[in-house]
Amino acid sequence: MNIHEYQAKELFAEYGVPVSKGVAVQSEDAFNEALNQFPEGGTIVVKSQIHAGGRGKGTFVDGFQGGVKLASTKDEARDFASKMLNNTLVTHQTGPAGRKVQTIYFTEAESIDHEYYLAILMDRETSQPVIIASTEGGVDIEEVAANTPEKITKVYVDSALGLQPYQLRAIGFGLRLSRSTFKEMTQALQGLYNLFWEKDASMVEVNPLIVTEDGKVIALDAKVGFDDNALFRHSDIVELRDLNEEDEKEIEASKFSLNYIALDGNIACLVNGAGLAMSTMDIIKHFGGEPANFLDVGGGANADQVTAAFKIILSDSNVQGILVNIFGGIMKCDIIAEGIIEAAKNVKITVPLVIRLEGTNVEIGKKLLDESGLDLVSADSLADAAEKIVNLVKEKQA
Ligand code: ADP
Ligand code: MG
Repeated sequence: MNIHEYQAKELFAEYGVPVSKGVAVQSEDAFNEALNQFPEGGTIVVKSQIHAGGRGKGTFVDGFQGGVKLASTKDEARDFASKMLNNTLVTHQTGPAGRKVQTIYFTEAESIDHEYYLAILMDRETSQPVIIASTEGGVDIEEVAANTPEKITKVYVDSALGLQPYQLRAIGFGLRLSRSTFKEMTQALQGLYNLFWEKDASMVEVNPLIVTEDGKVIALDAKVGFDDNALFRHSDIVELRDLNEEDEKEIEASKFSLNYIALDGNIACLVNGAGLAMSTMDIIKHFGGEPANFLDVGGGANADQVTAAFKIILSDSNVQGILVNIFGGIMKCDIIAEGIIEAAKNVKITVPLVIRLEGTNVEIGKKLLDESGLDLVSADSLADAAEKIVNLVKEKQA
């Protein structure tokens, strides 16, 4: 689960990480009251709140430039905000469709002396938190990593020991901090690490973390993601969830405990088990197709879940074919067959459907499908199934 910058900054403040003063608003009516909280004459930064980065360099669909703007007067701030609110912002992280801006964050402008990059992530290789810091903040960290990797300091934290003072110093030296900012910066770092650890975050990224002209350390941007599997013990974090930022189909899938991720292709897959789902996607690609989603109905799905899965798949207008690939173990093939038949009663299946069933109760499952009168193609193996659906979709397009 991800949260907005303004929410992340509230958490930063709780953990003693310095942030600028700011106010978030969701409607134009609230602009004036929000702006009244800022002193006259100061520069105000107007920031679009979406769950994607690269906002500063982004462009709105109507041509308005920049999802982060510096306003020198309150009138200008109001003007920028009304151009951003309910407009759709496209950045290199949103994809071409962009994201609708439904919250604006007004915040005080800081005079920047230097922009640093800081992130804390869970490193999958070592199963440890890793802190990534760089003197080159504000820009694309991927570019820094590719061209000047020596400008990046990485510190791996032993989860049992926690972040150690010598590790904080190593980062401070890596960032070539002056004596005067060293302590403030390491305190901020410790706060960010505590937040990462205590809230079961999967990512904390501050780009840029700045030192101001008068030597203060401030987090100017904030991106925090949480481990969904640990959300049950953080009700305060769950409250920060913004459903506007999530794919409707994914929200629906989560209600039925289905593992569903929308993708860009046109062949929908309905599979049991994450491993099988991935091989199914691979083999669709092998035969020249593109998967429309990852969907794992799990080991013990019931007919309701299968029906829900089918509805979600069919609500995606990109879908031009469906491949059902079930290896019956705990999940019985007849349950899948019942789910498909039930779904077909509720939603008209207008695209080619290829079904491969194998394993427990496969004969009952096949019989149910045969007798249902549904227009489907059965397949005998994974390769056979993938080849059939890819060809059917191509024929339909031709
Ligand atoms: P994004 O990474 O999505 O583009 P940021 O919050 O990092 O958004 O803002 C982009 C840039 O705008 C920053 O790198 C910084 O240079 C500038 N900026 C953002 N907030 C402030 C602020 N409060 N004061 C001054 N400059 C800011
Ligand atoms: Mg940023």
